[in-house]
Amino acid sequence: MLVGCSYFGCRYLEHFSEELTKMKDSGFNAILITFSENDYFFYKKTIYKMCEIAKKKKFTVYIDPWAVLGIFGGEEFSKWLLDYPEIWQITNENKRTPNACINHPLTKELLLKWLAAATASAADYIFWDEPHFYFKNFQEITGVWGCRCEYCQKAFKSRFNYDLPQTINDDFVNFRSEVIVELLNYLCKVASTYNKKNNICLLPTEDTTLGGLANWDYVKKIQNVDMLSTDPYWQRKNKDVFEYVGYYADKLIKLAKEMNCQSEVWVQAYKIIAGREKEVGDAVKLLKSKDIQSIMFWSYKAGYPMSELESDDYKKTWKCICRSIKK
Ligand SMILES: [Zn+2]
Repeated sequence: MLVGCSYFGCRYLEHFSEELTKMKDSGFNAILITFSENDYFFYKKTIYKMCEIAKKKKFTVYIDPWAVLGIFGGEEFSKWLLDYPEIWQITNENKRTPNACINHPLTKELLLKWLAAATASAADYIFWDEPHFYFKNFQEITGVWGCRCEYCQKAFKSRFNYDLPQTINDDFVNFRSEVIVELLNYLCKVASTYNKKNNICLLPTEDTTLGGLANWDYVKKIQNVDMLSTDPYWQRKNKDVFEYVGYYADKLIKLAKEMNCQSEVWVQAYKIIAGREKEVGDAVKLLKSKDIQSIMFWSYKAGYPMSELESDDYKKTWKCICRSIKK
């Protein structure tokens, strides 16, 4: 079984190497290295060295288009969105939002640039992290959605023979899902020609007004998928750990079996509320009881030192995590 966590923030190779050794001692054998646009422009060689170091230490290595173009999940900014404001999405409130439109032709070109750099690394997996159209807030329903740009309007009309609606309907929901899977299918094919494995991480939601793949069956249209994952972060959604993690883990395992690929669930290891650290262990215990190939934690050291993601007591949370792995 793979057991790993995401890693970001520190790009000092000697520190990274030391921490990998500690992780190995704690029972980890996989690591996700974020490869944001900031890394793409300013830290590329260092990211390559990090991947090589992790491979030498026998880790399975993931590389993640972290917040790239505002299409993938992550706490990072995008340079390309500054360089190309014409690719921004337009919301139903007719406001431009800094998330590239998946239907804009330049978006695919830029993602291919990122992918060319990612496939040149020693990473095993490309981790397609929560691909989605714009949504205002994943934690609650806001009624704000994207995209209504000219490319979306044109593409929608050519598929459905009527104008893109002002309010969300089933055709529009299906349209967004279709174009996301078309893009992913293309990117996964390119990645596989470079002998990289593809891991698609699905947002744990069935809310079709959000911009992700709420209907997971769409993923079946994508070829060259080696692993499917999801990230049911129960405390962020104010849900019960057993109920929320259990529901989405079972759903994912079923889908992965149908697609003949591996399954992975991410465990919330950031913004853990003080006094509720034990729930992380509960999630791991639950997942270990299931037919799953990989358990990952977001993120290393329970969110420290990113202020926004740090758990209330990150030291205690991290200890709980390390204990839960060895149990
Ligand atoms: Zn658009």
